[in-house]
Amino acid sequence: MTADLPVYELYAIRYATRDGRRPDHFIGGDPHDAPMPMDYFLWVAVGGERVFVIDAGFTAEVARRRGRIFLRCPVETLKLVGVDGDRVRDVILTHMHYDHVGNFHKFPAAQFHLQEAELTYATGRYMRFPRLAHSFEVEDVVGVVRLNFARRVVFHNGPAEVAPGVTLHAVGGHSAGLQFVRIHTRRGFVVVASDVTHFYENMNSGRPFTTAFHVGLMLEGFEALRAVAPSPQHIVPGHDPMVMRLYPPPRPELAGIVARLDVAPDGAGVTAP
Ligand SMILES: [Zn+2]
Repeated sequence: MTADLPVYELYAIRYATRDGRRPDHFIGGDPHDAPMPMDYFLWVAVGGERVFVIDAGFTAEVARRRGRIFLRCPVETLKLVGVDGDRVRDVILTHMHYDHVGNFHKFPAAQFHLQEAELTYATGRYMRFPRLAHSFEVEDVVGVVRLNFARRVVFHNGPAEVAPGVTLHAVGGHSAGLQFVRIHTRRGFVVVASDVTHFYENMNSGRPFTTAFHVGLMLEGFEALRAVAPSPQHIVPGHDPMVMRLYPPPRPELAGIVARLDVAPDGAGVTAP
């Protein structure tokens, strides 16, 4: 009975961006060599008594090294929606790529929810290959190992309910232990897809993103998103600049910085894909 579930406010925080071109974002390329920039987000669900931060973003230092445009510290930006990183108790890591985990040290009171397969992958034999290791920062990986020794990692193996209305869905594909998150909000369940689909277009055209561990699982991941979302308009991709145009800011001055995902995506005359 969803009527019994807590109702969460759900926000996307945009903290970085980069230029890109369409062929960069689809396995097999794309016939149109046009600009296709990419945004970087973290997400936060705020309920009556609990807060779940989803992913941790990267640091300014890593942005410099990787040539990303760093807009603001994602953890500092949480304060704009009333969340203090020092007091967050639960961080869900969708996976351990550099752009999803790098600020773990800015959540000193948190436990981290992770698929066990992701840490196995990030510390295992495939990291010999720069093609796959490139998406990870070794200091992040070591940092998560240290968190585990400090008993601050909650491992999940497959689907899990971390609280009423907050469920994890393991899919793999893009990274071996990738998971996405479904949150109960006032418009029903909203699916924070993270990198299960970087852009709306990856999912809608059935063409996975170029960073891939297992292409078959990436394709099944698109199906998994649809299977648990009430409609396609309840799926929020992990890196699509469209998110900031479709969803309204909680206050006008936060336009381009924070978007509310718990209201329908009908903002600014843009049609949901
Ligand atoms: Zn990723």
